[in-house]
Formats: sequence, C-alpha cells, structure tokens
Amino acid sequence: MSFISCGSIDDVKSFTGKLDSSVSGENSLAASSKDGLAVHYIDVGQADSILITQGNSSMLIDGGNNDDYKLVSEYIEKQGIKKLDYIVGTHAHEDHIGGLDYIINSFNVGKIYFPKQTASTKTYKDFVNSVKNKNMKFTLPVAGQSFKLGEAECTILAPNSGNYDDANEYSIVIKITYKNNSFLFTGDASSISEKEMLSKGYDLKSDVLKVGHHGSRSSTTTEFLKTVNPKYAVVSCGKDNDYGHPTETVINRLKKASIPVYRTDESGTIVAKSNGTDIIFNVQPGSYKPGTKKKS
Ligand SMILES: [Zn+2]
Repeated sequence: MSFISCGSIDDVKSFTGKLDSSVSGENSLAASSKDGLAVHYIDVGQADSILITQGNSSMLIDGGNNDDYKLVSEYIEKQGIKKLDYIVGTHAHEDHIGGLDYIINSFNVGKIYFPKQTASTKTYKDFVNSVKNKNMKFTLPVAGQSFKLGEAECTILAPNSGNYDDANEYSIVIKITYKNNSFLFTGDASSISEKEMLSKGYDLKSDVLKVGHHGSRSSTTTEFLKTVNPKYAVVSCGKDNDYGHPTETVINRLKKASIPVYRTDESGTIVAKSNGTDIIFNVQPGSYKPGTKKKS
C-alpha cells in the first residue's frame, strides 16, 4: 500500500502514526467516532460500498461486487454493528448490489432503499429474494424527502425521473448533513441525473463528494462539480481497472478546481470523520493520475 501526497494542502488534516487500512486499523478509528459522523469508503475494488455511522445508528450504501460479501460483512462486524438502520442499493448493477443479499441475511436491517428498477441478472434476483425472505419490502426513494441517521440528516436528491435508458441514472443520490459538515453520495448517477438535480434547485453544496460512477467521464459534469463545490473528493475504483477510471476528464476537472482526491485504488479503505465542524481523513490525498485503460 502506498500513500501518495499531491503536495501542500494546508487544510487537510490526516490521522498520523498508525496508518493501516486493514480492518483492525479502521476499527480503532471507528471506536472513537461515536460522537461524530464516520464515513467508511470500503475498498471493494471496482465497486462501491460505503458505511456511515453516527452515534449508534448506521447505514450501508451499496455492498460491493458479489465476491465482496465477506469483506464487507466482516468490516461492518468489526465496527461492532449488529443492526444496519438503513441499507441503500443505489441501482441494480452488480458492483453495487452484489454483496447486499448476504449482508441482508446477516444483519438486522431497518429499511432498504432501492429505486424502481429491475434487471434480469442472477445478482438482482438474489438481492430481491434476500429482501423477500426477510419479509421486507423496498422503500422507494422520493427525491426531496429526508430521514434521520442519529443526529445526521439524510436527504434523497435523486432519482428524479422513473424512466432512464442508462441503468446508472436510476442511482439513488443522498446528501448527509451533520452539523456544519455534509457528504454527497452519488452512486453511478450520470449527466442526465446531475442535470435534473441542478434543475430542481436542491442544495447540492457538500464538503465531500463521492465522485459519480467511479470517476467515469459520464459523471461529474463541470456544472455539477461547480455547484457541489466540494472541499474533498473520493473516488471508489479498482487498481488498474478495465474502464480507465478515474478518467482524465474528471481527474482534470478536480485538479483544476484544486480539490484533493482520495482514491481507494491508491489508499485502500478511506475513512472520513466529522465532528460537525472539521473533517479528517485516515490517509493522505491520492494522485491526479488518471486510469490508463481505455474501455470507458
Ligand atoms: Zn458502479
């Protein structure tokens, strides 16, 4: 594991000393985070899985690929979590809902948010069956609605339509506000959804942006980035992934705006902690090096 610093960013504070992206490393960070908000961008390679805790409440946004089920469930267990108040499956792709069936089977679960979307894959069927077997139902996201995660407020910002050609556009987008800090979680929402969020006039401004669609050029449009105006960006993507994520287009936009980028492909699991005023990360920012493969 290597930590690559992109130079002098004065207002970025990092945990020093025991920088260890292993599960036990984050455990000790989380243990002291009960009073604040902790956001764990779990390293699931070319996929998304984000655990958020506030007080005794917790939420999991996406569960990585099918093969990540054990990694994600063990990570959650290591935080001492037995009940997930919320699970959010952002959309029907495997790299987001793959591990969720196992998670749903393994933990007490409050509500499961999932968009009105279907797929013909085994992954999707497994996911739906895990919900049925638990006698639960999906809660449909309604853009503009809010709910509480402990003392934090979660606002659903997308999807804003019910019919998209691109499955990624169905992605549930959530903004979490904890006192003076805010985090935006975008799933794989792309330019159409971003445009809709902008036109709805939502308060998109956030301190930390989970960069849409692993840094694909279909997301993080100039206008969206300008409006979110994040202090920090996080990219969840796999090392040397086949898609060339994060793309040069998006990385250059972030670089031009002097936004430090934290990357799971370079730093492993990234933990951001907020006390309501300041946000600190467990690692240094990553590089502005785009992915190299050209499939995206
Ligand atoms: Zn994805």
